[in-house]
Amino acid sequence: MPLDTAIEYLKGVGPQRAEVLKKELGIFTFGDLLFHFPFRYIDRTRFHSVRDIRTEGELYQVKGILRRLETVGTGRAKRLTGTLRDETGAIELIWFQGAQWLERNLQVGKEYVLFGRASQFNGKFNIPHPELEELTPDTAQSARTFDPVYPSTDKLTQKGLDAKGLRKLMRTLLDGLLRADLPETLPGFLLEGFRLVSRWDALRHIHFPENQQELDAATRRLKFEELFFLQLRLLQIRRRRKDASKGFAFDKIGDYFNSFYHDKLPFELTGAQKRVIKEIRADLAAGQQMNRLVQGDVGSGKTVVALMCMLIAIDNGFQACLMAPTEILAQQHFTNITELVGDLGINVGFLSGSVKGKKRAAILEQLASGELHIVVGTHALIEDWVVFQNLGLAIIDEQHRFGVEQRAALWKKGAGLPPHVLVMTATPIPRTLAMTLYGDLDVSAIDEMPPGRKPITTIHKTEHHRLRVQGFMREEIAKGRQIYVVYPMIEETEKADMLNLMSGFEALSRDFPQPEYQISIVHGKMKAADKEFEMQRFVKGETHIMVATTVIEVGVNVPNASVMVIENAERFGLSQLHQLRGRVGRGAEQSYCILLTGYKLSADGRERVQTMVRTNDGFEIAEVDLRLRGPGNMEGTQQSGMLRFLIADLGRDGQILTAARDIAARILEDDPALAKPENTRLRLHLEATGKAAQVWSRIS
Ligand code: ADP
Ligand code: MG
Repeated sequence: MPLDTAIEYLKGVGPQRAEVLKKELGIFTFGDLLFHFPFRYIDRTRFHSVRDIRTEGELYQVKGILRRLETVGTGRAKRLTGTLRDETGAIELIWFQGAQWLERNLQVGKEYVLFGRASQFNGKFNIPHPELEELTPDTAQSARTFDPVYPSTDKLTQKGLDAKGLRKLMRTLLDGLLRADLPETLPGFLLEGFRLVSRWDALRHIHFPENQQELDAATRRLKFEELFFLQLRLLQIRRRRKDASKGFAFDKIGDYFNSFYHDKLPFELTGAQKRVIKEIRADLAAGQQMNRLVQGDVGSGKTVVALMCMLIAIDNGFQACLMAPTEILAQQHFTNITELVGDLGINVGFLSGSVKGKKRAAILEQLASGELHIVVGTHALIEDWVVFQNLGLAIIDEQHRFGVEQRAALWKKGAGLPPHVLVMTATPIPRTLAMTLYGDLDVSAIDEMPPGRKPITTIHKTEHHRLRVQGFMREEIAKGRQIYVVYPMIEETEKADMLNLMSGFEALSRDFPQPEYQISIVHGKMKAADKEFEMQRFVKGETHIMVATTVIEVGVNVPNASVMVIENAERFGLSQLHQLRGRVGRGAEQSYCILLTGYKLSADGRERVQTMVRTNDGFEIAEVDLRLRGPGNMEGTQQSGMLRFLIADLGRDGQILTAARDIAARILEDDPALAKPENTRLRLHLEATGKAAQVWSRIS
């Protein structure tokens, strides 16, 4: 019975049910059904005593004799009640519907297996609408199951395919399968080495385990298999690309790099910066196209790393570009870089949608002629009309804001060969996610902050403490510092958010009156020019407080700002909070982040706030974020089909993933083509599934 048999041929399915299975669950074949895994299980391997029933909402299975069955009440209050008794006591049963049928089918005095959820009324426990099955040698057997519960829908339920109906289909399917239908995909040495159960056992036990141990073993095997093959594929792609993708070899470290390093660099590089530059240098010199992701927390000093890499490109006679997701951020990079290179003799240009007319024409001409060494800009850089003389290195900042196509467009700008690509992100991605999302890329981490920076102190305050917070703000302003006050703004509740922002602004204006205090306000509904004007006032130190929405999230660098107040902090995601906090702590002063929330917080909201208070480490925060939100909802991963796993969970299965990746790497190291006999199963499985798989994560 091959797995690609159409689902209508399964006994118990037929055309009508097949139709809903296809529509509702995407189940077209036997194989699709087999891989429709339960989302939870009901453990009916254990029997409780009546005495054990003491938690409301809990499921219980009890053996006992039905002692009483009677209809009580009249009209709408009419219901069927009963009593089930075992050696330890009696439990009340209650049905509000189906009394007639039950009275006909249940028999007082007989022994039943009861299964149901406990409920409490007037201090006494009862079981509403229990499942009752007569205790026979047969039901005693079936009662000892560990029942799978499958995701179902209303439409399926109407066709008799509720959890129970699906369970029955699955049983039919599994009973009809032969070992040969589920060939092993993992070689013996892996099964033994990782003590994994066979695929045959795993696929049967994931549906119908005898007990928890069997389920755990099946789950572990299937998770390993899923993660292992993904890693094997990604690593194979990476190897192949490294072998195949010829790139410019920047083998020279020349005058620009050296004189920048010796004469211009205003500080000593951190160990992490040195290490990452070294990694990149090796990539650039290797003659293959570089595809590297650099992760580094806000303030870890990515800009200077980017610049030094661009200098290597220039030393080798090429141009470089740096692309940022917003105009403000691009501007800031431009200013920084212009300042850093000083009189080194490097021509740096700026290009964005707002650069028009003669200015734009001039930039384009200088790019095409090669006169410009570096161009900094927004996504305008990837427009068709931007032509480089010889682009050798493209750096993309804040990677998560660019789509895959945009990155691909950059790649086409190479002079014959594709440029080297370096992506920089300040949103650290948990290791497990990076291994998967960017599994075929090289990843570097700047995991060390420049010295002398005082860690930001983060404090959680509820609304009640607003006055105290304002007092604190006054003190900081008196010391000459500046303050951000940030409000949430999301599309779905935009109107209410706008009101919230405006009334907050008005209240602040009253509490911090002119002329003593000056306040800027910036939000997404303002014209770009007004925004810019207000930002500039703050940047120049003309205003004390900047009231803003998250438009300031990426961008502005105001070292004198020492306090970040986040209103309704519980409404922000963790990575967003972390990004916002990164706006302060840029100068020498002790900085503070104050999270203001309502009094009542959801469990998740509380954990987010507590995490922020506990740590400044972006990597640690990312791990918590992953656990709270699940991989599909992490910033920058939404569109990635790659994170849709059948059974693995990147938030929980980090250990399995690491083991799977390590062994996959070792296997490929030893046998890149998987040609050795012991790897035959791997090769065959990759070939069989290869066509369906896509390559998602190339950054360029
Ligand atoms: P980010 O990684 O957030 O882009 P930046 O590159 O903007 O960080 O650097 C933040 C600040 O730290 C800048 O003012 C930069 O000049 C400074 N900086 C970077 N590296 C060092 C270093 N090794 N020592 C001291 N200051 C540094
Ligand atoms: Mg930066």
